[in-house]
Amino acid sequence: MTTRPAPTQVHLETFGCQMNEYDSELVRSLMKQDGFVFTDERERADVILMNTCAIRENAHNKVYKHLSELKKLKQQRPLVVGVLGCMAQNLKEELTDIQPLVDVLAGPDAYRQLPMLIRNAMLSQEEGLYQKGLAVDLSEYETYHDVVPDRTDGVNAWIAVMRGCDNFCSFCVVPYTRGRERSRDPEGIVQEAYRIAEQGFKQITLLGQNVNSYRFGDWDFARLITAVADVPGIQRVRFTSPHPKDFPLPLLEAVVAHPNICKQIHLPLQSGSDRILGLMNRTYTNKEYRSLVERIRAMRSDIVLSTDIIGGFCGESYADFAETYRLVEEIRFHSAFIFKYSERKHTIAARKFPDDVSEGVKTERVTRLFDLQRNISYERNREYLKTIIPVLVEGDAKRSAAQGMGKSDGNITVIWDKRTISSRPGDMVSLAIYDASSTTLYAEGPLMK
Ligand code: SF4
Repeated sequence: MTTRPAPTQVHLETFGCQMNEYDSELVRSLMKQDGFVFTDERERADVILMNTCAIRENAHNKVYKHLSELKKLKQQRPLVVGVLGCMAQNLKEELTDIQPLVDVLAGPDAYRQLPMLIRNAMLSQEEGLYQKGLAVDLSEYETYHDVVPDRTDGVNAWIAVMRGCDNFCSFCVVPYTRGRERSRDPEGIVQEAYRIAEQGFKQITLLGQNVNSYRFGDWDFARLITAVADVPGIQRVRFTSPHPKDFPLPLLEAVVAHPNICKQIHLPLQSGSDRILGLMNRTYTNKEYRSLVERIRAMRSDIVLSTDIIGGFCGESYADFAETYRLVEEIRFHSAFIFKYSERKHTIAARKFPDDVSEGVKTERVTRLFDLQRNISYERNREYLKTIIPVLVEGDAKRSAAQGMGKSDGNITVIWDKRTISSRPGDMVSLAIYDASSTTLYAEGPLMK
């Protein structure tokens, strides 16, 4: 009797954004089709893959830290280490020099080659050759339209409707790591939404680096999101991210009118100074951004707005920063992701502008913005006190299994004591909000008191 060799165990770690989480689902799917199995335990794995992010220094440093931890494991036993995603694309020279740690590098358009690259790397290790597998070519066409993602979350499912970006914001590495914009066929996306609904998911989040640019024949993003929101069983549809420079009116109309499209828009501001917006190549002004917010709020005053802001971009003076600060005070976003500028290799800013705002000044500015936004978020969240809101239950709260956790329509985290409210992931429940912090709403069942 012959025994079949044990399948190769793969451990996959994901860093960065929702698009990377989605890409990891594609990678799992492609590799499982090829006979690989996945394990949560790094120590048991024959292959360790890191799906990386190159957008911020923090994610980048985390990957290097993990790589240095793997050195020891690799000295103890045969192990193939692969770096996938944006860092693989952007730092290929640097990463291939980390001899002999990294065996496989695969950029975001090369995941179909991954099973072959890994098998070759394993064979090469057995023969003592330690050859590296490299696949970092960008594609004009790859959308993985025929790959069914290996989803694990049972409430929300992501669908990437497009890949790449043509905007070339000067600080951003995405156009270099993910290539040119290309949209996935709408029929395939809607069919996938039907399958997702049949599998019991309740929410779909449509992903794209700039969803406003979605085009496929006569389909635009407004038509696509409406078709997905019409799929029976899907109760909520979200999307990220639109670009403020060309936010389409039909998309706003769809958000306002369709009951299943969440009343929430993430609208990355980056800076409130026209001079800095120009250097960032954002192609809108402070005034245009404010007018867009006014238009959104005029059409639906309860839309929850969130944003991204970069503090300390190249050449940012105190006056530039003050304009950002004033705009945040004026708009009163519900929440904001605020980051210190960090130079990314190969970007326009890295090539053209000195990173001349000191670390101390960057820290001071983002801290001031953070403090301002925390107060605004707190006040915004307190507006929900004594209201009853629909909440989509996601599971247990991160901090305690005794608490349930879900999301409001506006994507605000809601927490409750499980002894007082009984619910299961995927349930839509009406909850009374009795307390709020800057990040969380605290709920009790409307019938409890
Ligand atoms: S729109 Fe700008 S910030 Fe967003 S992915 Fe494209 S280049 Fe990067």
